[in-house]
Amino acid sequence: MNAPVNLLDFDLSGLVSWFAERGEKPFRARQVMRWLHREGCDDFDRMTDVARSLRARLHAEACIRAPVPLRDSVSVDGTRKWLLDVGAGNAVETVFIPEVNRGTLCISSQAGCALDCAFCSTGKQGFNRNLSAAEIIGQLWLANRQLGAARALEGASGEDGEPDNGRVISNVVMMGMGEPLANFDNVVTALRVMLDDHAYGLSRRRVTVSTSGIVPAMDRLRDACPVALAVSLHAPDDALRDRLVPINMKYPLRELMAACNRYLEKAPRDFVTFEYVMLDGVNDSDMQARQLLALVRDVPCKFNLIPFNPFPNSGLRRASAERIQRFAGILVNAGIVTTVRRTRGDDVDAACGQLAGQVLDRTQRTVHLMQPKEAR
Ligand code: SAH
Ligand code: SF4
Repeated sequence: MNAPVNLLDFDLSGLVSWFAERGEKPFRARQVMRWLHREGCDDFDRMTDVARSLRARLHAEACIRAPVPLRDSVSVDGTRKWLLDVGAGNAVETVFIPEVNRGTLCISSQAGCALDCAFCSTGKQGFNRNLSAAEIIGQLWLANRQLGAARALEGASGEDGEPDNGRVISNVVMMGMGEPLANFDNVVTALRVMLDDHAYGLSRRRVTVSTSGIVPAMDRLRDACPVALAVSLHAPDDALRDRLVPINMKYPLRELMAACNRYLEKAPRDFVTFEYVMLDGVNDSDMQARQLLALVRDVPCKFNLIPFNPFPNSGLRRASAERIQRFAGILVNAGIVTTVRRTRGDDVDAACGQLAGQVLDRTQRTVHLMQPKEAR
């Protein structure tokens, strides 16, 4: 007998085709999609408006399987982090960041990452594998259930900055472990489920893909599923960016800036967000801020400065708060909206770049992750 098909692997068109192969009408797929994602249902018997004969068939041929949490920790600031088992000793992380007017879920796209950026602990782990669509959307499915929000999605809507009628997860960012555009097909399937009105119904402006700058895949995303775009810039010139973000050797800054402008033709927002990790003495000088202004002159953009989150043996230090403020001031004075990312979830190692940092050593260090930080 064939292994059961995981229904979380499908977007609506995939589910419609799968049902069609079994002689079922498209509306059945929509019904099941709503049960899966709006209701957070994992039991075919609860799908009461689905014909009994179809439920029996689903039992026989399908399953609903999200990654299983190995650990669930809540920071003093309310940030919640799930460490998720994705098999073969690999784990990825999902982080929920509650704020006054919104709740953001930060999702992983790969176990590890092949791109090896100098300041990123995920990159230092190396690449394990791409997550499946089910493992990606399963993070939202799971968080929604665990936050008690599966049903709170009904009737919710709202623009940025407004309370979102109780929608617990109002925004999704693909800023966890991995490079989303290096796992293109599965990420796009998961994005489509996030946007689907039969599922999570998030607006394209509230779903952000963060990329280190894989230029051809940025063009493909623009055509397949243009959501909000964040680009990890981190350096104002090619020589430094080659060192910090090695994919720059393949897609240098000039090509990257042009790709950003092509993306903006179809983007739901009229700007790109440039992420810039602030590294002491490396990329944080006044001159480099001015170089950045010249670099992005023709790209409508905002900047998000990220204080570097250190990890063992990185050989890098966080820029001081004063330096970051001065750097931000130079960008702001030139008319660029600039925010400094608050470090969240520090006490549960949920800050950017710290995700599952110790998972590679699958014996001892996993044990560390199971203990409160104070005990280490
Ligand atoms: N691979 C994608 C998305 C995941 S990383 C990308 O690189 O954009 C999400 C963000 O966290 C990126 O901007 C990345 O540069 C940043 N980041 C990685 N390691 C970090 C660290 N140690 N401190 C602060 N930010 C970090
Ligand atoms: Fe990969 Fe992003 Fe980390 Fe670079 S910063 S190694 S692209 S996860």
